[in-house]
Amino acid sequence: MGSITLSKVSKSFGEAKVIPSIDLEIQDGEFVVFVGPSGCGKSTLLRLIAGLEDVSGGQILIDGKDVTQKAPAQRGLAMVFQSYALYPHMSVRNNIAFPLKMAKVDKAVLDQKVQDAASILNLTDYLERRPSQLSGGQRQRVAIGRAIVREPSAFLFDEPLSNLDAALRGTMRLEISELHNQLKTTMIYVTHDQIEAMTMADKIVVLNRGNIEQVGSPLELYSRPRNLFVAGFIGSPR
Ligand code: ADP
Ligand code: MG
Repeated sequence: MGSITLSKVSKSFGEAKVIPSIDLEIQDGEFVVFVGPSGCGKSTLLRLIAGLEDVSGGQILIDGKDVTQKAPAQRGLAMVFQSYALYPHMSVRNNIAFPLKMAKVDKAVLDQKVQDAASILNLTDYLERRPSQLSGGQRQRVAIGRAIVREPSAFLFDEPLSNLDAALRGTMRLEISELHNQLKTTMIYVTHDQIEAMTMADKIVVLNRGNIEQVGSPLELYSRPRNLFVAGFIGSPR
């Protein structure tokens, strides 16, 4: 559960062809980072996978099933938004439980899932607080908790740490990697930060103007960049 296949996926906004044609295979359990300069189409590609945007052409398969025409809620994925997307008037507990309440999940099951997520994220002692009474890192964990309770087949992150200061970014990077080790669920992580890409990814997808320049492990991209763009972006000496 959690393989994702893109086949000739394209996206235009009016006249602008933002994604000409992308083919990509993501294996179940992989931590994949989409990296590239601002405006290269990272968020658009993630939103196409999530179903928040319709493709202009091509197909998206999740676990071998064509989901191209499916609504976001039917794709079994969870998008993790930046922590400011929390509900300020709700407790941590209710923020995390929110997707389960929407889905009318049984109270006992809901309580258990919130407990489990809180335990994974070290939020057990903070469940009755409001987001404003938490640190930046704790808030980001609540945003992740809201995704965990849905038990998605993949997590989609769009620059989740860009609002945090440098020290906290380092900590949260480790926490998200640790979460991946624990859950072993597919994660797609969008960033323009080469360090995040190099330290977190099993597989890096380097994007440039809506095209894939190269796909490979951090070591492969560093030691055998296919072209100057990849070499320059990843920072290898070549
Ligand atoms: P990134 O996340 O890599 O910074 P985006 O995917 O946000 O890049 O944007 C890629 C390109 O698509 C940019 O030129 C952006 O202006 C354009 N774009 C994104 N969303 C829309 C939209 N809803 N309407 C028109 N153009 C858009
Ligand atoms: Mg973006």
